[in-house]
Amino acid sequence: MTAVDDQILYPPASIAVVGSGQLGRMFIQAAQSMGYQAGVLSATAETPAAQVADWSVLGPPDHLPALRALAERAQAVTVEFENVSAPALRWLAKRRIVRPGWRTLWVSQNRIREKSFLTRHGIPHAPWRPVRTPEELATADRELGRPMILKTADSGYDGKGQVLVGPGDDPEDAWSSLGRASCVAEGWVEFAAEASVVVARGRDGQAAAFPIALNHHERHILATSVAPAPVGPIVAQEARDVALAVAQALDAVGVLCVEFFVTADGRLLVNEIAPRPHNSGHLTIEGAYTSQFEQQVRALCGLPLGSCDLVTPAAMVNLLGDLWAGGEPRWDNALRDPGVKLHLYGKRTAKPGRKMGHITVLDSTAEGALARALAAKQALTER
Ligand code: AMP
Repeated sequence: MTAVDDQILYPPASIAVVGSGQLGRMFIQAAQSMGYQAGVLSATAETPAAQVADWSVLGPPDHLPALRALAERAQAVTVEFENVSAPALRWLAKRRIVRPGWRTLWVSQNRIREKSFLTRHGIPHAPWRPVRTPEELATADRELGRPMILKTADSGYDGKGQVLVGPGDDPEDAWSSLGRASCVAEGWVEFAAEASVVVARGRDGQAAAFPIALNHHERHILATSVAPAPVGPIVAQEARDVALAVAQALDAVGVLCVEFFVTADGRLLVNEIAPRPHNSGHLTIEGAYTSQFEQQVRALCGLPLGSCDLVTPAAMVNLLGDLWAGGEPRWDNALRDPGVKLHLYGKRTAKPGRKMGHITVLDSTAEGALARALAAKQALTER
């Protein structure tokens, strides 16, 4: 730990986030509510994060003049996405507090490194093989069987850069459709459910985990999350233990999300690690004593973490751009339920699949919260 790392930053210190989407926006809003001056390194002045920031530096995340300007204005820097260039973060970390560190991001930026990390630490995951050559592709096909999934090692998200290789398919064709890029091949997991645990970890290694959330995806995009997930206490505890072990093994400081497949017999397999707040943790804004974004602020500034306990069960439903197909959604319809909390990210154009906002509902049961959140979403398009 360097002298810079040791510092506790009190409000109104100036802190910043690299990346300008909704995660950056909600980090900035949490920082501001604690009295910090919050800035962003943003692509343009119109992004969700730049719209609410106290100050912005405009430029790409690995542009040296932009990073220099960021270092001049912020005492501590975090990220909202994992693909920030590691050399850029290393440069920044010599001058300012940077959390999570570049090593944490380095692992989760690339699926081969991520899977190797999981294997090395004995953390359960789907069977996988690296695919960088035709020989490795043939080995993966022989050893994993069908169906298998090819996923590009770099920069895939929301199911992009993935192709399923079914029983009758030619794996060479599948790999070509991904530009014969460096990939991982994964064995098919017959999962019963998908779930996630968001963890916050401080600079002193103290960590806390939010209760496990149950996630439902549509077209590879998160559609709904509910917490606590309707799993037994043993699975819930194991998910927390695994997520905390991942955070510790990565020496992550900040917020991290571990996504799981849950098999029918209650086994948990880690699918992905995101070293930042996660869409499935948005329900913590109203649903938990401390939101995932406030935890990110606390960890960044060297403050003690808050409680990850839920106030009550909660559900989150994503609002995708598809909802705008027939005109502006009927916000008044959705808000007829007085428990509905609406979050919009300030995106100017609605496109199919684009995350425009979300709805959260708290209820005495997770099913009740989900039913009300879905009803509110449905009401948005009733004319
Ligand atoms: P990922 O980008 O790796 O999170 O994958 C996107 C989605 O594809 C996951 O949320 C799953 O629904 C599905 N998927 C990914 N990998 C597998 C697998 N090995 N077996 C079954 N389904 C998978």
